[in-house]
Amino acid sequence: MVDWSGGNDRGAQPKADAIWAGVVQDGTAQEPIYFRNRQVFTSWVFDFLDAALAADRKVMVGFDFPFGYPVGFGRHVTGSDDPFVLWEWFADRVEDSPKANNRFDIAGQINGTLPGMGPYWGNGLKRDIAHLPRKGLARDPNPFPERREIETLAKGSFTCWQLAGAGSVGSQIIMGLPVLHKLRMAFAGQIAIWPFEPLTKPIACMEIWPTLFAGPAPDGMIKDAHQVIATAKALHARQLTPDHADVAISAPVEGWILGIGQPKLDPMGLIPPPLRNDCFAMPQGAYWTPVDTALAHLQANLQAATGVESVSVGDGLGRVLAGPAIALRAHPPAANAAVDGYALKGPIAKGAHEVPLCDGRAAAGVPFDGTVPDGHALRILTGADIPAGTDTVILQEDITTNGAAIAFHGPLKKGANARAAGEDMKKGEVVFPGKHQVTLRDIATLAAVGVGKINVRKQLRVGVLSTGDEIVAPGKIARRGQIYDANRPMLLGAIRSWGHAAVDLGIAPDDRDTIRDMLDAAAQECDVILTSGGASAGEEDHVSALLENTGSFALWRIAMKPGRPLALGLWNKKPVFGLPGNPVAACVCALIFARPALSVMAGGHWLTPLGYTLPAAFSKAKKEGRREYLRARLTPEGTVEVFPSEGSGRVSSLSWATGLVELPDEAIHVSEGTPVRFLPFDAFGF
Ligand code: AMP
Ligand code: MG
Repeated sequence: MVDWSGGNDRGAQPKADAIWAGVVQDGTAQEPIYFRNRQVFTSWVFDFLDAALAADRKVMVGFDFPFGYPVGFGRHVTGSDDPFVLWEWFADRVEDSPKANNRFDIAGQINGTLPGMGPYWGNGLKRDIAHLPRKGLARDPNPFPERREIETLAKGSFTCWQLAGAGSVGSQIIMGLPVLHKLRMAFAGQIAIWPFEPLTKPIACMEIWPTLFAGPAPDGMIKDAHQVIATAKALHARQLTPDHADVAISAPVEGWILGIGQPKLDPMGLIPPPLRNDCFAMPQGAYWTPVDTALAHLQANLQAATGVESVSVGDGLGRVLAGPAIALRAHPPAANAAVDGYALKGPIAKGAHEVPLCDGRAAAGVPFDGTVPDGHALRILTGADIPAGTDTVILQEDITTNGAAIAFHGPLKKGANARAAGEDMKKGEVVFPGKHQVTLRDIATLAAVGVGKINVRKQLRVGVLSTGDEIVAPGKIARRGQIYDANRPMLLGAIRSWGHAAVDLGIAPDDRDTIRDMLDAAAQECDVILTSGGASAGEEDHVSALLENTGSFALWRIAMKPGRPLALGLWNKKPVFGLPGNPVAACVCALIFARPALSVMAGGHWLTPLGYTLPAAFSKAKKEGRREYLRARLTPEGTVEVFPSEGSGRVSSLSWATGLVELPDEAIHVSEGTPVRFLPFDAFGF
């Protein structure tokens, strides 16, 4: 693990802000190695890799500087989005010796090819460099993103535009890419650069961020030296394998920092183990498990099962954020007018006023350049930046004008009809935390603060299998003794509306070998499998019987109505939820148990439906000992009525109802007007 530096020779004595490398080999951490300059380092790393390959070792090499620039930059400079083309471009131009290099000149030259000032800034030299401002504030708006996507997740990281000052990444990347290019050329065919290439070569080279893995340095130890060893140890302990390429973020232009947004490399060191065979085992004793106990058990034992990818914000509906979404800009970015009218300085006292107009106007997208003199007003339109010298807007309907002045009555508060900069969202604020499921409204919120791409979990692939010799797909001819498959189309639709990828596994006959084959195939294709039917303990309940043989099976007898036992197990490590066959029971069990469980597996929160307490329009006496879910709907009076028949064979009752009434585990006597809990189907996303 290498802590990089973009500076000049640091001398013979080990010191901070130089290049440091930490090596862990065969589980043993070596002393951190100090390099006074890049030339010494480069010859060392070539020797190190040569020796490793000669000894048939695998090596993971990490560098703590960006492997790519924010999207658009490479294309501007080289005409290509390919980061390796950009590496070569820098390799061709960077001149590096222990005493001097041309990084500031190169940055100035690139700036010179762009209109405006920037985006590079910071000059560590005494002489001025054309097009390279010394201060970041001297820049015009950056034509490229200020940060890479990954840096919006890595709080506290520097941008690649800053060339001077402590920790400035801008110099490190310019001086680093040529070295990476050399490595890539010298070890061609034996080195893979993550995340641009699959990790299928003996040398894996990737960007790291030691802050993720290393705590504070022990007293008396140089921070850089501590960090490289701590990072090497932490990554070594995580048993990185080429499999991790599977969870690599698709960041083909900008690159990515290893360990951020990757479930298997949680920066806190909490790598979720695969589900254990006994994860569904319930404490023995109680024959009937209360609903809440069953839910708590699921919540405690399930975990995210999907990798991470980056999608356009407009494609984000229903996707689960893999990390916090950060505002890239304030909203509104500047104070602006909420109405059409005239901008002036507030507050305005009570009484009649006449205020001269100044020339020009402020419109949305066309800000007023000058300053409005004291005692003057300026024509302004909705959405326009509030001009300098003013802070308040008077509504055009409230004034009269002759073209030279406006007349109106006060009072008017300072700031009236103006929106303050950042009053809605501040730049850098967490707009949504990780695990949040993106709604259509959220898409507008994220877009408003400039978020074009979001890092989300890959969609959970949920397979749905119906079982039973009697089941036939709707649209087919049903022979005597057959019934139509009501569950599969309903469950597939529910899965889609919950934001997952639905995988139709078809109908399995009551034949153990066939179901086994279907489950084998399903476990390849899906992250989790829902079955309906065949989940009890009868002789035709083959799903239960098969799961029983895996040693992971649990049949939860849940104290609820409707609902027969819920069968749970792992098939080739993939969770299987065996729902009851009866469509009403399958529906209720899916809403109560499968929905929150799938949400957690998709990387989201455990979900609890939000209900309302409303007066009952029915009466019912219920004994103690089980929870009941009644198909129910709102009446025009705002009370809740229930379907006249409680028979769970009545599929049409699901259409009649708009939700469920949840009656508690305890005994209850409901009569008209008794408050009951109503859970609308909407609250289940159903
Ligand atoms: P099982 O759990 O297999 O004993 O099935 C319980 C009841 O649900 C039986 O009456 C089945 O015929 C019925 N059933 C099972 N699967 C479905 C399905 N996919 N669609 C409609 N009814 C079903
Ligand atoms: Mg059956």
